[in-house]
Amino acid sequence: MKNDPNKTPEELARVLEGHLDSLRASGVSWLPQQTDLQPPPRPEPSAPPPAVSLPVVQTPAAQQAGLLFDTAPPADALTPEQRRVELAELAQRVAQCVRCRSLVVSRTQTVFGVGPLDPLLCFVGEAPGAEEDALGEPFVGAAGQLLNRIIAACGMKREEVFICNILRCRPPGNRTPTPEEASNCREYLERTLELVRPRFLCALGACAAQNLLGTTLSIGKLRGRFLDFKGIPVLCTYHPAYLLPTRSPEKKKEVWEDMKRLLIRMGRPVPQAKQ
Ligand code: SF4
Repeated sequence: MKNDPNKTPEELARVLEGHLDSLRASGVSWLPQQTDLQPPPRPEPSAPPPAVSLPVVQTPAAQQAGLLFDTAPPADALTPEQRRVELAELAQRVAQCVRCRSLVVSRTQTVFGVGPLDPLLCFVGEAPGAEEDALGEPFVGAAGQLLNRIIAACGMKREEVFICNILRCRPPGNRTPTPEEASNCREYLERTLELVRPRFLCALGACAAQNLLGTTLSIGKLRGRFLDFKGIPVLCTYHPAYLLPTRSPEKKKEVWEDMKRLLIRMGRPVPQAKQ
């Protein structure tokens, strides 16, 4: 007898009564009570499925971080030629970097850095702008032209100094780099500086100074004194873009004061000409 879920209790009772009548008619005089019935064997609990080890998905950032720091020898142990080769390899690695998704989709190319090994001075800016993104070289736009004039006013040539940025990709609309982007790009900056080995650093603007030195102090508080990055003296000053005619050209005077301090500390003569 099968239960019919569509039958009412009264209908089921009538069906059961009819079934019992037919059993009596066929000679059945008793039925076992419920307690005599052996419960159906319980199914063996099925064994839990074996644990599946998911592959550890490394982000491109993690992969590259591992590659760089796991295999990179100390730059001190390298010959200048080895440093030159590794710098070129680092630039190639940077050119393929996809750590910052929003920058990768909008960049034309990465902007690594430019200049000689073992320079007296390295300028560190914020990030490439439109011209830098188009040409693949840092500080080639209007701010770059002003930086060239600052370098010349210091009695130096652009080719003598190394120039790079906190980021190697242009943020869309030249927005300020996010902390995550700066963090993603930091090991490229650090390894670049290890390989290039500048004797002095000049951080241009708040973003460069704060990220390089790991501080939130304003550029107004950081500028004009010597700070330290891994044993390299750092002078912070305003970013050349801040000195352009549409921004705060009156700050050129303070930048020149900073540059004079830097020249004296570097043991270079201080030219009389300003800017
Ligand atoms: S900014 Fe630096 S870390 Fe970010 S994608 Fe460009 S090269 Fe990679």
